[in-house]
Amino acid sequence: MNQLRIVVLTGAGISAESGVRTFRDNGGLWEEHRVEDVATPQAWAIDPAMVWRFYQARRRQLQEVEPNDAHHALTHLQNNLKQFTLITQNVDDLHERSGSREVLHMHGELKTLRCEISHRSEVRMKPSDLTDDVALCSCCAQPSGMRPDIVWFGEMPMHMKEIMNAVDACDVFIVVGSSGHVYPAAGLVDQANNAGAHTILVNLEAPANAAAFNEVHLGPAGELLPELVSKLLKTND
Ligand code: NAD
Repeated sequence: MNQLRIVVLTGAGISAESGVRTFRDNGGLWEEHRVEDVATPQAWAIDPAMVWRFYQARRRQLQEVEPNDAHHALTHLQNNLKQFTLITQNVDDLHERSGSREVLHMHGELKTLRCEISHRSEVRMKPSDLTDDVALCSCCAQPSGMRPDIVWFGEMPMHMKEIMNAVDACDVFIVVGSSGHVYPAAGLVDQANNAGAHTILVNLEAPANAAAFNEVHLGPAGELLPELVSKLLKTND
């Protein structure tokens, strides 16, 4: 078993080759929706039906997509390392469906919904959960409305303590498919650099924070990542 301690942070780009749209590229989700209309607590307060429809469409789309070679490469990496942490900004479940375990979803997940009263999340992916009708929770005596289990802009990302600890203790920090615009995720490379890790970027094009990385690989993650993973596993056997 390889002794390298590797932390990987993924963004929307790793799921692009599976057919899940990114946010900021041409054809990205923000071209049809302004961020403040669908991904903020204010939007939920003003027009919950519109926000609900947006996320229900994203949740239904999960059933039509499959993990790609980049997701599989990270599962292979995890299976061959003693210490590995996978952090994702993605709300899809393609890492898990590829076989990755203990994925830290810092921006929440599409497959779960959260009770507005108890704040408990539950997996709700039955056909009846995916219509545009409002969902009722199964935890409160008085059924309450449920919200998408998503960290909206202005809300606190999840698992931050675990994420910071893993980044502080890693030898290699790899970012895959992220535009480097959304903080605190975009700042983790600086933390990794400060902790002395070797930092690697795999992205279709040079993002805002490309200069922060020791090593940059530009191209589709599904093509570049399998090769990078075998190189990492070989050179450190
Ligand atoms: P982003 O949309 O801002 O940036 C995506 C990046 O991926 C771009 O820099 C682009 O060049 C790159 N990219 C596109 N195709 C690629 C490919 N085939 N291989 C490698 N790189 C590729 O995404 P972000 O940085 O993750 O931040 C946006 C926010 O959007 C996140 O908070 C995330 O929660 C959310 N989001 C999630 C999903 C998802 O769950 N799949 C999809 C869209 C947005």
